[in-house]
Amino acid sequence: MSAVFLDRDGTLIEEIGYLDRPERVELYPFASHAIRAFNRAGLPVVLVTNQSGIARGFFTDSVVEDVHKHIADLLALGGARIDAYYYCPHHPHGHVPPYDVACECRKPGRGLVDRAARELGIDPSTSFTVGDRWVDVGLARTIGGRGVLVRTGYGAIEERRPPAGMRADVVVNNLVEAASWILASR
Ligand SMILES: [Mg+2]
Ligand SMILES: [Zn+2]
Repeated sequence: MSAVFLDRDGTLIEEIGYLDRPERVELYPFASHAIRAFNRAGLPVVLVTNQSGIARGFFTDSVVEDVHKHIADLLALGGARIDAYYYCPHHPHGHVPPYDVACECRKPGRGLVDRAARELGIDPSTSFTVGDRWVDVGLARTIGGRGVLVRTGYGAIEERRPPAGMRADVVVNNLVEAASWILASR
């Protein structure tokens, strides 16, 4: 089974820096529509997000879980559902043990994808990533799937400065366009 590995900040919700309170979540206006399209197509949507603010002491993992509950509630109002939420709390330059380490799950590392693959029965190599940073496209390169860069969040800036040898399978304006491309390409 294929899935969509979806970035959070700058892709599904407004990029506002370290998001430390659920009330600060701003779902993009097109987010529910895009997620609903995946739901209807029977393509699981798995959120994968780097949250080094935990390792850096800006917020705790319970805040991240509250944020994800809030996102789920907002999506439900629009009849949309994300199938699973995964986050990496680590950063090697953090100062909050036990999170202040280099890990396998910080994107573009594949740890979160591998966990989802095990728990949900997903084949990463036929899956898609969607995100506004090159690490999100890098994740697709790592797992052998296809990577979509969106121009929301940091995407428009990132598009202008690709790392050497890095290319997205497609660059689109936002998550709705990503959904259209993915549903036509699978
Ligand atoms: Mg992002
Ligand atoms: Zn990690």
